[in-house]
Amino acid sequence: MLYSWLQPYFEQFLVTLKSGRMSSSVIIAGDYGLGGRYLALEMAKAYLCQNKGEHGACNQCRSCLSFERLMNKDLKVAYSSTTEEAKKDYDFTYDCSGLIVRPSTTQARSLRIDTMRKIPSFIFESAAGGVGKVVIIDNAEKMSAGAANAILKTFEEPQVGTMIIMLTQSLEQLLPTILSRAIKIVLKDIEPGEALEFLLNKANQKPPMIRRVDVDTAVQLEQEQKEIESCPGLQTPIDSVRAQVALALSSSAPLSAMQMLLAGDDIKALQVMRALVSSIENRDPFDVEVMTAFKALDNALQVKLLRQLVLEILKYKAYVPVEQLPLIFHSHAQFLERLSAEHLFEAYDTLSHLEERPGLIGARAPGAIMRCWLQAFKADLVKP
Ligand SMILES: [Zn+2]
Repeated sequence: MLYSWLQPYFEQFLVTLKSGRMSSSVIIAGDYGLGGRYLALEMAKAYLCQNKGEHGACNQCRSCLSFERLMNKDLKVAYSSTTEEAKKDYDFTYDCSGLIVRPSTTQARSLRIDTMRKIPSFIFESAAGGVGKVVIIDNAEKMSAGAANAILKTFEEPQVGTMIIMLTQSLEQLLPTILSRAIKIVLKDIEPGEALEFLLNKANQKPPMIRRVDVDTAVQLEQEQKEIESCPGLQTPIDSVRAQVALALSSSAPLSAMQMLLAGDDIKALQVMRALVSSIENRDPFDVEVMTAFKALDNALQVKLLRQLVLEILKYKAYVPVEQLPLIFHSHAQFLERLSAEHLFEAYDTLSHLEERPGLIGARAPGAIMRCWLQAFKADLVKP
């Protein structure tokens, strides 16, 4: 089942596919928390189905059934990889499960030239299911110019019956030569109401899991239950306050917000906000409580929280209703609007810089910024 907000894009794809005007390359652009990877899988399944109907895949033919194993002989995924992963051929593989869950690594992953070079020969092999071939390129924004050049010819001289789907967070990071030859599907932001409904639905409150058809159902369910129980964020029921905070900290992308809720990061972030408010209100000279709460967040979340906070204060100054600003609203931090806009814009710039180049700046930078701000906030606030 495709997420409800992805359904319109999928239907549009089916119309194009049926009309025979389907381009051989498609780019799906948008925050990964919007679920573009699921859309890509569904499109590949419909494309390769041996018995396509009105609503896409038949779910019964050999090709469709192989999607339940997340393996199809006519579909390969090009992943960004570490050197180790590439050595094990995990950079270009039939295994689609990495689009749903991928083990994290501390090493940097990139989309390699060697990986791209494997694509043309796969496309030229004859199709096992007799319909066609599909390649999904994940994290296409991580493609270097060299890697892009390695598949340029494939784009320029498309093979009949093949489709290449590229996934990217933003179109701007792709080369113009590639952009110009593909159909672009840009995933738009989701209505807040629809996103909240998704997050509050208990059936969705579980980590992404891969169902294995070759594993006993009972064993699988037990495994699922264990995974659900091990989510720290599920010890506290997910209510609309939590869901709103998580969405605000996830650029309104529901799947990222769900991850945040499962980890309980929204609770930690709100704790920081409440400690911040009490620290400023009580003129706490040492800010112990707020700094302790802040240090409990990982680095990326620290930056996200500070950035969202600045954004909300600026919006509040611009008369956006406080109910639409979850961090401020749920921690009663309206008085922060007395901070100077100049301070806020400066802070916003610094934080954008930190977010774009996390590797360049030390892990303690967000904490240092937070301390600086607390001092500046207090100075600002005592001014008449
Ligand atoms: Zn089928």
